[in-house]
Amino acid sequence: MNVADIDDLRARLAAHGGVQVEHAADADLVLVNTCTVRQKAEEKARSYFGTLKAAKGSVGRPFIVGMGCVVPAGREDLARRYPQIDLLIDYSDPDIVFSELAHAFAPLSGAALHEGYTPLSDQWRSQLRFITAIRGCNHGCSYCVVPFARGPQRDVPLGRIVAEAQAYEAAGAADIAVLGQNVLAYGRSGTAEAPRFVELMEALLAETSFRWITFLTSLASDLSDEICEHIIAHPRISPLLHLPLQSGSDKVLGDMRRGHDAALYKRVVAKARACRPDLYLTTDLLVGFPTEEDEDYAATLRLAEEVGFDDAFMFAYSPRPNTPAVRDYPDRWTRQQKSARLTQLIARQRELSAARNQRFVGQELPVIIEQRKADGSAVARTAFNKPVQLPSTVTRLGAFTRALITAAKVSSFAGLEVPAP
Ligand code: SAH
Repeated sequence: MNVADIDDLRARLAAHGGVQVEHAADADLVLVNTCTVRQKAEEKARSYFGTLKAAKGSVGRPFIVGMGCVVPAGREDLARRYPQIDLLIDYSDPDIVFSELAHAFAPLSGAALHEGYTPLSDQWRSQLRFITAIRGCNHGCSYCVVPFARGPQRDVPLGRIVAEAQAYEAAGAADIAVLGQNVLAYGRSGTAEAPRFVELMEALLAETSFRWITFLTSLASDLSDEICEHIIAHPRISPLLHLPLQSGSDKVLGDMRRGHDAALYKRVVAKARACRPDLYLTTDLLVGFPTEEDEDYAATLRLAEEVGFDDAFMFAYSPRPNTPAVRDYPDRWTRQQKSARLTQLIARQRELSAARNQRFVGQELPVIIEQRKADGSAVARTAFNKPVQLPSTVTRLGAFTRALITAAKVSSFAGLEVPAP
């Protein structure tokens, strides 16, 4: 989502004569988009603001802007600690950020605010482009700062999402991913502008001809039979399903207020795999939640083995300001305890992913050429967004071809291009 927002803002600035430079000291404007989902992300943003002090010249250049998730709760503290910041914007929504910029940053004064930029430069032609369908979130997982940092759910109108997708297609984008914290909740407010998720995806399928469309992220309890049969089973929907589990323990899932238990999660996975035999299942796992005892952690390891994730993003619990978890449960585990659990889980999951990915060896997969290198080799990408190293290719950048997979590691494959008959 942050990548999508920054790409959009970069395109708006370029449309008003902006050029991207390498070093902050050479810039007229520095825009820092922040993340606060874990403490570490927030620390990175703060330390970057610190380094910008040296970039600021005596003439007040560059104009430094902090935007996004760290700002709403951190505004006063940021302003006090980093006087080099000229403007703090509570949002990361490009429409809002750009209009605040147009007021405060002289070179943009009077700049027209156009809705819905579709940034596409040549270097992105072969890449997956992101389209935001939902901002904010209403779900309220107890550990999660998103509802506080980004506010309640706001659906982008269907017409705007489709127009953005069509603009990407016209500009030559290969494929798109439709984004929401829980994208399946699209349209829940029930307005005509934003119908339900199934209708959103059907509109995108009907009104574009992308070979693959991906949607991220899905909450297990909202994955209905209808979504399975109409969307997941659709041949032009990517086989990638990102379905965060977080924990294998029902007690911890309850304390996390996830809205699903382990049994429901397993039923949903079985259903999705039945609809889509080539499903590529990825997840998020969170260890070290305050109520996670050894046996709960063991349940997570066991469930990960039982479900068989193709890949996983794994995190150690980080107490976030304002969240129900911070209020209800004292942070129980030391940094060392959390990181011991995380290290063990990552190691086990890597073995599981490596073993599962072996099923692709000997298979021929459709791929897009994402990078062509000077030595004639290329990097391609599968429909489930896995890079495939090819020693050579006869296909141009951004075009589709087929690859015979010859080796599979956790994070990348090797293969040979299969020449068209
Ligand atoms: N709704 C989004 C969440 C984005 S955050 C989604 O479902 O993808 C991505 C992941 O970060 C979450 O799934 C969770 O595993 C992790 N996470 C969220 N809050 C966290 C916290 N307080 N500490 C550690 N990890 C957290």
